[in-house]
Amino acid sequence: MSALLKLDQIHSYYGKIHALKGISLEVNQGEIVALLGSNGAGKSTTLKTISGLVVPKSGTLEFEGKSIVGEFPHKIVESGIVHVPEGRRIFGGLTVLENLEIGGYTKRKDKKFIQEGITRAFDLFPRLKERQVQLAGTLSGGEQQMLAISRGLMAEPKLLMLDEPSMGLAPIIVEGIMRIIREINKQGMTILLIEQNAKAALKLASRGYIIETGEIVMQDSADILRDDDKIVKAYLGA
Ligand code: ATP
Repeated sequence: MSALLKLDQIHSYYGKIHALKGISLEVNQGEIVALLGSNGAGKSTTLKTISGLVVPKSGTLEFEGKSIVGEFPHKIVESGIVHVPEGRRIFGGLTVLENLEIGGYTKRKDKKFIQEGITRAFDLFPRLKERQVQLAGTLSGGEQQMLAISRGLMAEPKLLMLDEPSMGLAPIIVEGIMRIIREINKQGMTILLIEQNAKAALKLASRGYIIETGEIVMQDSADILRDDDKIVKAYLGA
């Protein structure tokens, strides 16, 4: 089976800072893959490189077998990759509904397409339906995360990349978000997930990569990573 997404020896920089030092990873159709590691390891930079916000200096990056290096971020969204960034970045001064509409417009300016996306979002998150005219900035943290995920799904991605969806949320809310991620995956979505909450991520994922100072130091099935006490202590902050 060929990979949906494939990075091979990717090097990315911020000016002189060498943030990714030869990252190689694959995500196959239908998988949830976890990308784990401590603060500053390069997890967010990996997602930013995939979504075109950071252009790698060398290495190959392919989506559905085609190189996407150097493509503009909006072209990468059109090709089917959506990135839900850390900190959610919803538009606080707009309503829930308007945020969703914007998510759809990034892909296609078509009323029917947008309406169908909104219906799907409200089926997945009835809470958002109840609050559709509320300003997004006044939603709770968990609701804002639901909105950020739904806004990403509005573009009907083939690959959904989530950067720390559990950040700043109470454990009970995290459980709810993780359940929804599993549900979205069951409906067929391929997911690349960054998490500080490694235990929660490895419950969902089929495979995981551990990244340290810009390099992949370990990769294995989620079961093996989860059950290895040394790994959990050394890399996963348990
Ligand atoms: P965290 O969980 O803390 O977000 P991370 O694993 O996502 O960590 P990155 O945000 O990818 O880490 O950062 C990787 C390295 O690149 C760090 O050393 C960071 O300081 C640096 N870095 C990130 N963004 C920039 C930037 N805009 N300019 C300069 N350096 C940056």
